[in-house]
Amino acid sequence: MSLKSGSEMVGACQPALDWLPILDRVGAAVMVANAEQRIVRVNRAFSAMTGYAAEEVVGKTPRLLASGRHDGDFYQRMWNTIRQRGAWEGEIWNRRRNGEIYPEWLLINALHDDTGVLEGYVATFSDISQLKRAESEIQHLAFYDSLTGLPNRRLLLDRLEKARALGQRNGYSGALLFIDLDHFKNLNDTLGHAIGDHLLIEVAQRLRRCIRECDTAARQGGDEFVVMLEALDADPQQAAVAAEAIAEKICAALAEPVLLVDQHEHFCTASIGISLFGGTEKSAESLLKQADIALYKAKEAGRNTVRYFDQAMQTALDERAQLEVGLRYALAKGEFVLHVQPQVTADKRLVGAETLIRWYRADGSIVGPDRFIPLAEENGLIVPIGLWVLDSACAQLRRWGGDPALNGLCLAVNVSARQFRQPDFVEQVRNALARHQVDPSRLKLELTESLLLDKKDEVVDKMNALKALGIRFSLDDFGTGYASLAYLKRFPFEQLKIDRSFINHITHNADDASIVRAILAMGDSLRLQVVAEGVEQTEQHGYLVRHGCCLFQGYLFGRPVTFAEFEAAIANADLLLPGA
Ligand code: C2E
Ligand code: MG
Ligand code: MG
Repeated sequence: MSLKSGSEMVGACQPALDWLPILDRVGAAVMVANAEQRIVRVNRAFSAMTGYAAEEVVGKTPRLLASGRHDGDFYQRMWNTIRQRGAWEGEIWNRRRNGEIYPEWLLINALHDDTGVLEGYVATFSDISQLKRAESEIQHLAFYDSLTGLPNRRLLLDRLEKARALGQRNGYSGALLFIDLDHFKNLNDTLGHAIGDHLLIEVAQRLRRCIRECDTAARQGGDEFVVMLEALDADPQQAAVAAEAIAEKICAALAEPVLLVDQHEHFCTASIGISLFGGTEKSAESLLKQADIALYKAKEAGRNTVRYFDQAMQTALDERAQLEVGLRYALAKGEFVLHVQPQVTADKRLVGAETLIRWYRADGSIVGPDRFIPLAEENGLIVPIGLWVLDSACAQLRRWGGDPALNGLCLAVNVSARQFRQPDFVEQVRNALARHQVDPSRLKLELTESLLLDKKDEVVDKMNALKALGIRFSLDDFGTGYASLAYLKRFPFEQLKIDRSFINHITHNADDASIVRAILAMGDSLRLQVVAEGVEQTEQHGYLVRHGCCLFQGYLFGRPVTFAEFEAAIANADLLLPGA
């Protein structure tokens, strides 16, 4: 049978679709259309959301709701997906009867009869404007400096990463100017912070005036600013000349007197370090580091000067090269050790632990993952290292499995994007679980937002395949990336971890506190567990508990330690099991 359209359908019940009358009891807005895409039925929640009464929409096509924000391609892709997969889900902007445009989360399912003939479509939508507002608030707080309104370090790194990739493709170069105000501390100490802030705001405005639309002026922190120049000449010599000209322009602009209290004129000078990029393999962090080294040279040269990063400053980079050589043999030499850090509930009961890798070098030094994981990601060693971590975690879970006191604990394993993207990653996880006969629900994989940025379908499919095995997922370092709602909706995460940079200042920085509250609210409405990372103080724990956070990790509950130390802490009741 087919769904008819037309006004005789208003409020009517379709014989074969006898579930239609219950639509009004469903909380979400629902619209049913026939195979010709004509609306045959809507529920009350639909009318409340869109402002259209059933009589006004029945017989019409859903185009009536179009906001004009999506192009023809968008709808074409949507209908193609529905034709191929029978359903489509995603974020879409629609228009209410009163003209207001709003975002909604839309799920469309095609309906077929027993013989496979298309009967119609059911669309379910929820208004996500509030979540979008929270999302953009989080983004603003997370990416802009609240004093000067300039992009912060995080946004700068992000733009730098993009500029670098673009430069590599198109062959042009860019430059980073690391700017530090000379003797700013004196001013702050003698005239006070309010005057210091006033000067920083003024500097930010002048920097903005010295650069082009496509460039970025960011505040790095304190009295440090970074300007990123893009699309300079492909020839490094020419690019260097252009960058120097802008650096001189900045010095001149900053040298103009600034009027502070009581008509007091302040003369500000700056030191600038420059590094060029383009066609380079270097990471955004290391480019910034080069500019920082150049800045030191400028300061050593007596301030109020501009210096380039040059070959003599290479020593720091040489150390890194040495590290890389050592890293190649570390796995074979058995120099890696897994540490674990406890994860606890609000009342400090253990639920599990996160594994954190350490490199014990032959010279007796212990190298942390922040120093060698980025390197291993660049040269691909992360793949065998990641496999070793996975295998060791499963081996440990197996040992715990035999102990009634410990067999309820979960282990979270960090998985880097490059490792996850290996074509046989699912297989590798399956093998590790099988080899050690581990219950998959006790293994949690921590992924970061960088993984979710491209090839989304591939990532979703892989996650779903792993989820089908019983594995769960946690989104690590949340808040430092895009904090996008769409990601959270689309990927099967069970948990998100608030990055410790926000927890750090939660009790005395209003911006960080509001980000954390917004993340907790978002987690709540999306029914995701939220874990606070890096909790060091009782006050931070108290604040988080008061605002609804229920899982915690941080030095307050325990530092990362070896498995033996972890088990000893449980035996000593320094760490409490749920029933203890
Ligand atoms: P992460 O996954 O966000 O891990 C949390 C980091 O915060 C750990 O640093 C931990 O020692 C530190 N931390 C925990 N509580 C506190 C606290 O209260 N205060 C402070 N200041 N720090 C705290 P760690 O061990 O240096 O690891 C750094 C990062 O390296 C990890 O960040 C993770 O992204 C990466 N990593 C560690 N192990 C692995 C691994 O096996 N594979 C991969 N791909 N990455 C790993
Ligand atoms: Mg982690
Ligand atoms: Mg983290």
